[in-house]
Amino acid sequence: MPRTTTIVIGAGQAGLAMSRCLSDLGIEHVVLERGKLAQRWRGQSWDSLHLLTPNWMTRLPRFRYDGSDPDGFMSVPQLIAFLERYATSSAAPVLTDTAVERVERSANGFDVVTSRGEWSASSVVVATGYCDLPAVPLASQRLATSVLQIAAPEYRRPDQLPAGGVLVVGASSTGVQLADEIQRSGRQVTLAIGRHTRLPRRYRGHDILWWLDQIGVLSQHVDAVQDIERSRRQPSLQLVGRPDHASLDLSVLHQRGVRLVGRIRDIDGHRVMLGDDLAATTAAADIKLADILTRIDRFIATTGIAAGSREPFTPTWPLAAGAPDDLDLEREGIKTVIWATGYRRAYPWLHVPVLDAHGEITQTSGITPVSGLYVLGLNFQRRRNSSFIDGVGHDACVIAHEIAGTTARVRVA
Ligand SMILES: Cc1cc2nc3c(=O)[nH]c(=O)nc-3n(C[C@H](O)[C@H](O)[C@H](O)COP(=O)(O)OP(=O)(O)OC[C@H]3O[C@@H](n4cnc5c(N)ncnc54)[C@H](O)[C@@H]3O)c2cc1C
Repeated sequence: MPRTTTIVIGAGQAGLAMSRCLSDLGIEHVVLERGKLAQRWRGQSWDSLHLLTPNWMTRLPRFRYDGSDPDGFMSVPQLIAFLERYATSSAAPVLTDTAVERVERSANGFDVVTSRGEWSASSVVVATGYCDLPAVPLASQRLATSVLQIAAPEYRRPDQLPAGGVLVVGASSTGVQLADEIQRSGRQVTLAIGRHTRLPRRYRGHDILWWLDQIGVLSQHVDAVQDIERSRRQPSLQLVGRPDHASLDLSVLHQRGVRLVGRIRDIDGHRVMLGDDLAATTAAADIKLADILTRIDRFIATTGIAAGSREPFTPTWPLAAGAPDDLDLEREGIKTVIWATGYRRAYPWLHVPVLDAHGEITQTSGITPVSGLYVLGLNFQRRRNSSFIDGVGHDACVIAHEIAGTTARVRVA
């Protein structure tokens, strides 16, 4: 059985950043990937997807975007090429087509069973992704079988869907992008809206993420928020990365003809029962937006940083007027439901007692209660941007130093 110091599971941006930080500290390791490098982006993205983070935010330990369009937004093939260059530049020891099937404790660390043999290691870093599996509500099981239902990771392009109307469920980053693309393709889209985080693409002369970076929101530490579990549950940003740097919010979708309805309460065959919460959720998103813009305004006022003039925004809550209580999919001609309702994680191969009642890995800043076991890339794991390309490197380096310390202590002993 081959032995190494650290096994990293997953070769997405997190696993590659981890590898780079381990190499920098001279820690022997191997990265095990069940598919190809950056498999998630290869296998679970729609064709038109571009990052919503600008190119200048594509920063990983010792490697960053250095092209001629720092304010542009990478397509998925461009991101995959970027990650491939990163792996080559760091000489990352990635073993592709190697699925981890079992991890368990052993006398001197961990035994890791893979589809291509067994490994032994002193430490293991789980970097299998925050957006692992789609989280689809149980009500989906009561949907009439004559309606096609897919989760967002299965969506590629509008012409893959049967003719007819489409119900997109979820109005965060993915939901609004799919609703927009499918409506533009000539279908009637209905968008079921729950909690969401509204943001304009640009504000006072800069990209909104530039401002959030400047005011320290993205790098905010877990200790700086009052209720970390609540912060972790915040929906993803309602943003799209397009060459025209346009915003994509509910007003824009409404103007394009997308029908806006409340969150799905339940389903019975073709009947979809809706909440009467649309006014409340849009008003809450408007208030949060006003709050963040005020913080940016205050930052501009106190620092004197160059900025454009203040830009008012139009509230979206009036769009809730007349939203229906239910939908009859048959009568409305809706033939497809797309669930853009977020993600969950599952670790059926992890036979180490670190999972909580929800099946999540118990951790503080990526360090689990089991000595030598770490996790990387979770949402708001250590800082708000822990699951972003721009944030995961910071956490990876913290964990690498922790492993170096543990390894050094073990060697001394
Ligand atoms: C639609 C979408 C758009 C996003 N856009 C942005 C954006 O614009 N900017 C940004 O910063 N972030 C964005 N994110 C968030 C984040 O960057 C991605 O989720 C990214 O994929 C996370 O990288 P990761 O390395 O943590 O995990 P992943 O990319 O999910 O990588 C995990 C890897 O682990 C492998 N793996 C899983 N299980 C096993 C196993 N048992 N054995 C071996 N290998 C295994 C998988 O094949 C995969 O390659 C987006 C996320 C989504 C879903």
